[in-house]
Order: sequence, then C-alpha cells, then structure tokens
Amino acid sequence: PIKVAVMTSGGDSAGMNAAVRSAVKMAIYKGAHAYVIREGWEGLVRGNEAGSEEGQRTPTGYAKGNDVFIPTYGEGDLLREGVGEADEIGLKGRYIVRVGWDDVRGWMSEGGTLIGTARCAEFRERSGRLKAAKNLISCGINALVCCGGDGSLSGLDRLRQEWSSLVKELHDTNKITSKQAEKHSSLRVSGIVGSIDGDFSGTDLSLGFPTALTRIVEAIDSISSTASSHQRAFVVEVMGRASGALASSAAISVGADYVFVPERPPSVNWRDEMCDILRRQRIVGKRRTIVILAEGAIDSDLNPIKAEDVRLCLEKQLQVDARSTILGHVQRGGKPVAEDRILATLQGVEAVNAVMEATPETPSYVIGIRDDTIVRLPLIEAVKQTHQVSEHIQNKQFDKALALRDPEFIE
Ligand code: ATP
Repeated sequence: PIKVAVMTSGGDSAGMNAAVRSAVKMAIYKGAHAYVIREGWEGLVRGNEAGSEEGQRTPTGYAKGNDVFIPTYGEGDLLREGVGEADEIGLKGRYIVRVGWDDVRGWMSEGGTLIGTARCAEFRERSGRLKAAKNLISCGINALVCCGGDGSLSGLDRLRQEWSSLVKELHDTNKITSKQAEKHSSLRVSGIVGSIDGDFSGTDLSLGFPTALTRIVEAIDSISSTASSHQRAFVVEVMGRASGALASSAAISVGADYVFVPERPPSVNWRDEMCDILRRQRIVGKRRTIVILAEGAIDSDLNPIKAEDVRLCLEKQLQVDARSTILGHVQRGGKPVAEDRILATLQGVEAVNAVMEATPETPSYVIGIRDDTIVRLPLIEAVKQTHQVSEHIQNKQFDKALALRDPEFIE
C-alpha cells in the first residue's frame, strides 16, 4: 500500500490540525496507511529510535469504513496530549507514528498544531535530508504531505528533487538494502500552504489567514472603543512579514484611517501626508484615529516604518494622545474560524489525491484555492514567484511585486 506521512512545519497557523485530520482520514479512506511526523523537519531528521523504526502500532480494532477497514488504536488521545508529554505517553524517541482514524478525532477545532512544528537547520543541509530519507524509507513511507510556509515547502521540493541521489547514497553506503532502494525509487509529495502572512503566490488564501484576520479585527474593535472614548489615536502593527495582505484586509474590515503596506510604500514625506489626511478627519468631527501598520512596512526609499515612529509623529504633528500596539502572537493562536476549517479540509483531501495520483513525471504540487476552486499549483514555480515578490520590493519595482502575488501560471 501507499504509506502517506503528514507533517506541519515552520510557524504554526490556525487550521493546521484540521488539515492533518483531513489528510489522515482521506489517506485511510483511500486505502493507504497514514502516519504523522512530529516536530516538523526536525522530527523527520531524528526519526525513530532503534527498535521502533517501523513507526508501527498494533491496532486494537478495525472499524468498517465505506469500503475499507480502518485501523483504530483505542488511544485517540495519544497525540493530543501534546509534545511535552511525549515521554509519558509512549512516544519517546518516536517522531514518525502510524495513526488511525481515532487519533485525529476532534482535531478540527484545535488551535496550533498538535503534532508539533519546529525550525530545523539540519534539514537545510544535505546531510540532514539524507537522514530524513533514511527515516522515511525505514518506515516504508513513500508519500509526504507537508503543511507550512514557503520555507517548509522549499524544503519539501528539495527533498523530492534530490530523492534519487539520496537513495543512491544510502544504498552505496549500505544504509538501506537493494530491495528498499528499488521500492523507494521515487517520493510522492504535496504541500499545503499553512501561513498567516498571505504572502504565497498563486493562492487566494492560505491556511490560518482568515483566523489571523479575525483575531486582528476583534482586537482593533476593542481598541477602537477606547480610542473613541478618549479621542485617542492608535497605531496597530500587524503580522505578515513582507506582505501587506493582513494589514490591508484588516484596514478595510475595521474602517481604518490610514494603512502602511510594503507593496505600496508611501513617499519619504509620509509623516506630512498622513497627518494632512488625519487632521482633516478630526476637523470634521472624527473622535478616533486608527492607523494600521504591516510589520514589513517601508517608505519608498525602503526605510522601515516602525509603530513608534508613527506614534511620535501623530503626537507631535497632530497633537493627539497617541498609543501604539504591536498585536504579536495573539494573531496566530486560538480556534480556527469556519473558513480555515473548510479550507483545511478541502486542501487536505486534495493534497492526498495529489500524492495518490503522482507519478515520477508529475511535478510536485502545492494545493491552493483560486476563485473558490481548490487547485494544484506547481510547487517550484509558486515558491519561486513568492520569493520574487520580495526581490521586486527590494528593487523598488512595486507594481511587479503586486502583479506576482496573483500570477497566471495556474491558468
Ligand atoms: P512561516 O512562513 O510560517 O515562517 P516557513 O515554512 O516559511 O513558515 P521557515 O522557517 O522558512 O518557515 O522554514 C521552516 C523549515 O523548513 C526550516 O527550519 C528548514 O528546516 C526548512 N527549510 C526552509 N527552507 C529550506 C530550504 N531552502 N531547503 C531545505 N529546507 C528548508
């Protein structure tokens, strides 16, 4: 059978658990064996301690699915207990774990990622990827679904590109048998964009973005009432790295008075320009001022614009009581909103379909959504275009940067 492993990597985002749940259930439904990899690439590099290479568990029973028997392990909370408890729940030294239907039960509404995530420097090196390949082969896994940002997905594609040479090296150094080398001549992969930044090219939405936006809007609504009561100005910095997607969507949602996004930087005279506009609003009776700042905000000379700069400017030039708030990690956490749950479920299903249908000739796909339709995007191009957006911004080619957020290669 095809053995599909599901993992999460990079920064966590709401909906990752829902995506893992969906991919695990779909894999089982399709008759594959489902595994999870704990702690992102770090877990894959570490693998399972000697004696538990197979990552197997003994089913305690089988439930009859549509037309397949589904293994159940009667310990549905095995992974839910969380990573810190791994020692006590029998997962010590095991990062690649066979899972059944019951293991992911109830995961839809959980925030963060229950199988853990990590940044892993070793996976950036060939030696780390060699260990990862060995660990996958030891467990007999031949398909990998990874949910993460552009960095994690670059790593996924790299693993697949190098796969034959990794297998050859493992075989030449007697780390795997000829039979294993033959059986694992190719690796099927697919990606799901899990990132709140909304910076991934080619997809209208990435997993976690709707929840992060909801958290931001809730926070600014609360801030707004104080701002109005005290006639204050608030500068709110939101996440998104080099992308202004969260900032601009939040600005529309709360009716902000001014917004700074990296893709449309203001001139170096932004202080005067901003204050002119805000002053006029105050003159006609507006009691509160809300300015939203993307964390990657810059001016047209690429100088960073910081929340404190904006606050000081409002205080000095507008002569209002001005405060600044950096929302930080409240944007990431908590229960996924319905839109993220739906997105995660549909993308998890399609990610598994993509690996089940993959052949050595098909490109690696990342699953996205465009015009309300789930689509497969060529992973390499999508990642490349995502990186080119930042390059265009650095070269002050802002129109080109914006155009690349919505490229045409998927048509
Ligand atoms: P987020 O956007 O939420 O921060 P991300 O997936 O972009 O998520 P990164 O820290 O860039 O987060 O990447 C996560 C991990 O993926 C890295 O720690 C590293 O192990 C692996 N990785 C990233 N880039 C590469 C690469 N070019 N080659 C191999 N592995 C990589």
